[in-house]
Amino acid sequence: MNGLPIEASATTAIREAVEARFEAQTRTLAEFVRIPSRRFEEGPAQDFMADQLRARGAEVDDWKLDLADLAPLPGYGPIEGDFSRARSVVGAFRPSETKGRSLILQGHCDVVPEGPVEMWASPPYEPMVKDGWMHGRGAGDMKAGTVAALFALDAIREAGFEPAARVLFQSVIEEESTGLGALSTLQRGYRADLALLPEPSGFTVNRAQVGAIWFKLRVRGRPVHVATAGEGSNAILAAYDVIAALKGMEARWNERAAADPVYAEVDHPLNFNAGKIKGGDWASSVPAWCDVDCRMGVLPGWDLEDAKREILATVAEAARAHPFLGNNPPDVVWNGFQAEGYVLGEDAEPGLAAFGEAFETVFGAGERPAERKMTALTDTRFYGLYHGIPAFCFGPTAENIHGFDERVDLESVKRVTEIIALFVARWCGLNRRA
Ligand code: ZN
Repeated sequence: MNGLPIEASATTAIREAVEARFEAQTRTLAEFVRIPSRRFEEGPAQDFMADQLRARGAEVDDWKLDLADLAPLPGYGPIEGDFSRARSVVGAFRPSETKGRSLILQGHCDVVPEGPVEMWASPPYEPMVKDGWMHGRGAGDMKAGTVAALFALDAIREAGFEPAARVLFQSVIEEESTGLGALSTLQRGYRADLALLPEPSGFTVNRAQVGAIWFKLRVRGRPVHVATAGEGSNAILAAYDVIAALKGMEARWNERAAADPVYAEVDHPLNFNAGKIKGGDWASSVPAWCDVDCRMGVLPGWDLEDAKREILATVAEAARAHPFLGNNPPDVVWNGFQAEGYVLGEDAEPGLAAFGEAFETVFGAGERPAERKMTALTDTRFYGLYHGIPAFCFGPTAENIHGFDERVDLESVKRVTEIIALFVARWCGLNRRA
């Protein structure tokens, strides 16, 4: 069995409902984008989602995350920063009668920092529609997808139906840094037969995704007056030597990736990034410290502990070659993502087949979504790797995510809303509403 059959009249009614409510959907998206839900500041965005879910009659669970509950779980990534206000929000929609299979719809409300605001053509948290695109930080990644899922459920209701299986609508945080929001929903006990994450995939389905390791390099120096700089050791310049060694490791790992059964065809799938650097105290003092926040990709199936050992060995080797670091090697602190890669397995096929049928209804007979092997990661891994819940992403077309002038194509958002609604109908089945 793939998708459950749905009557043509139901399909038409659902699609018309998406169309009829699309202006309201766009307004809701703009309200959501207006909330600057950067890391550790997601509270108002979670309030917004909880209100949206309550207004739709969901049974809402809104709770504070406790790191002690999460730390022992597979996929956990350590947090650096104030986690005291971290919350997850789950809205449960339970059917009057169960006929189909249950579903998790998950969106993350956290957004990455906007960077220097003057580099944006329009302010990042003042959503603006231009030429059919909505601009704003988080509009693409991934507030448009989350709101699309919400309005997909609305369209089913407007058309006179309810999903005939449990639907858990999960709004999470930390997707961009650890994944602890998704992990917390699993820790809390939420489960379903499948999870769909409407990330901005440009109508593709992610067949595979890499894993990632975050770490902070703490490089030391010997501070002296710049007048006698030769007697000191410059921590900032030394950090560049360590970064160069890690770039060398990145090249070796990509050579290995060329023989990988899944990623061989992907050019340079594993990217190293020195993403944030801080160091020194004074322009005329040789800096005594430099911290560099790094990210390195790993392939599905790679053992994270092995990868971490190789990172440590690379840093140690670079340090040995340096006159000061030789006796004062940098510390490596694992913080943020400690994430394994994930490839969809056989168990995802029924879901993908039902999804393909929904896609075909919107895009025409014989059309199927293209599949993608991602060089980034999503929260799907927690469901698929550790809980046997196949999970995939499918969402609208966005540009400049994580960059300046992020934007999402509203026409693609409408198509995605239709496809999600028709997929929910085929996966969960439909009950006619009393
Ligand atoms: Zn995202």
